[in-house]
Amino acid sequence: MSESISRRGLLKIAAGTAAAGAGTAALSGCSTIESMMGSDEGGSSDAFSIVSGKASLPAAKGPRVVVVGGGWSGLTMAKYLKRYYDKLDIVLVEKNSLFMSCPISNIWLAGAVDTDFLLHSYDDAAKNNGYIFFNATVINADRENRVVYTDQGSIDYDYLIVAPGIDYNYASIGVNPEQEFMLRKKFPAGFMPGSEHLTLKGKLEDFEGGVFIQTVPKGNYRCLPGPYERTCLIAEYMKREKIKGKVILLDQNPDITIKAEGFHHAFDNLYKDYVQYIPGVNITGVDPEKQQVIAETDGFKDTYDFADAAIYPSVRGAKLIEIMGLTKEGSQMEADIDPFTYQAKGDEHVYVTGDARPMGYSKSGNTSNSEAHYVAKVVAYHAQGKELPTWESPQTICFSAVKTEPLESIMVDAKYKYDGRTLAGFTDVTLKEKWTPAMGQGNIAWAEGMFNDMFR
Ligand SMILES: Cc1cc2nc3c(=O)[nH]c(=O)nc-3n(C[C@H](O)[C@H](O)[C@H](O)COP(=O)(O)OP(=O)(O)OC[C@H]3O[C@@H](n4cnc5c(N)ncnc54)[C@H](O)[C@@H]3O)c2cc1C
Repeated sequence: MSESISRRGLLKIAAGTAAAGAGTAALSGCSTIESMMGSDEGGSSDAFSIVSGKASLPAAKGPRVVVVGGGWSGLTMAKYLKRYYDKLDIVLVEKNSLFMSCPISNIWLAGAVDTDFLLHSYDDAAKNNGYIFFNATVINADRENRVVYTDQGSIDYDYLIVAPGIDYNYASIGVNPEQEFMLRKKFPAGFMPGSEHLTLKGKLEDFEGGVFIQTVPKGNYRCLPGPYERTCLIAEYMKREKIKGKVILLDQNPDITIKAEGFHHAFDNLYKDYVQYIPGVNITGVDPEKQQVIAETDGFKDTYDFADAAIYPSVRGAKLIEIMGLTKEGSQMEADIDPFTYQAKGDEHVYVTGDARPMGYSKSGNTSNSEAHYVAKVVAYHAQGKELPTWESPQTICFSAVKTEPLESIMVDAKYKYDGRTLAGFTDVTLKEKWTPAMGQGNIAWAEGMFNDMFR
């Protein structure tokens, strides 16, 4: 247990965690949490001693950097921090024991790559790159005393990198908590790593016909082209399997948000009888029991019945950001950081990277990976007392498959102009909206390159 934090202090942290998780103001008393965690002050088996006791880890051999979240950002940070300062001691904390990629998962959904292509070993990544992988869920941090709490014990840090990605904001589509629970279980969005993708694949394999609804959220959501790519590949699957069905894509934006020409062309030409694209839809409710989406378009109320669905609400920064007191006011509950150094406002030992950032970059894997290459340098230089590097724009390279037999894709490649307050536009943009087999191969080669960069 950290010498510097008392049991009462930790209980307050736990209380804050519960309060933030419930979306309410701070809890007034700690007694409920205390009783939940066990009341035996000196006992070694109660929940308190597990969370506050030291995690079973080797002693730090240099300034310790704890990276929270083994996604595209955290994996890249963990690897490259050491490249820029080899004395750093890196611990990557991730709640899942196995990495499953979101990128390429739509192609996998359509059966064009095996599951193995998406799965990677955290232990191998750590071994190959000289850091520690710690399989645990981060609960909170005591930033004053630089301790991070996990369900497997606490870890002292010199630097904390928080890269937990996103959570869904179901309130954005007007559902109550019970409906949210049912939607998560029965009609998941499939935009977070893990079992949602497996559920979605099962749905497709069992689909017997009728309407399959997909929704596109408002705001800066994860993977702008993802819902459109998935629409193409589900439509292709229905066409191939001769299923009497169609995808209705309810878009809460006025038009396709990226690669619009390419996707419109695919919907109209490849999948005319299988895709109905409806833009400008304001979703006001979803009834998971009746299997209906309730929406307004141009002031008119519509109800869409579905046989099956993947309902994608707006996204927010992962709840851990809020729990740690890092939220930026006025953002999609993303982190309050300096946009050039990624340092948390008022805390030079904490950085937030990846899709939990507030800057309006595309929330994509390539963006997170290229950004982490730069932020790793910032943290390593800070730890060595060196002048910080000049800002480097993240890069968004994003392929989207429109068909899989053979695999053919469209793509965009862009960097950002950023003035510190708002996005000042894009630069170095390449947009290829005519699909070809060569681009399909480029799509797979891109993913292999990224996996090599994070795991080898
Ligand atoms: C279907 C789909 C297709 C996509 N296609 C592309 C594409 O073609 N190209 C592209 O560039 N991007 C694509 N993306 C987007 C890309 O996956 C994300 O933008 C990227 O994963 C963001 O990286 P991240 O590290 O911020 O978050 P994530 O990759 O989500 O990683 C966050 C990690 O933190 C962990 N975590 C969260 N909370 C805790 C906690 N409390 N304790 C411990 N661990 C925690 C999570 O388990 C997760 O592993 C796609 C996404 C989806 C869903």
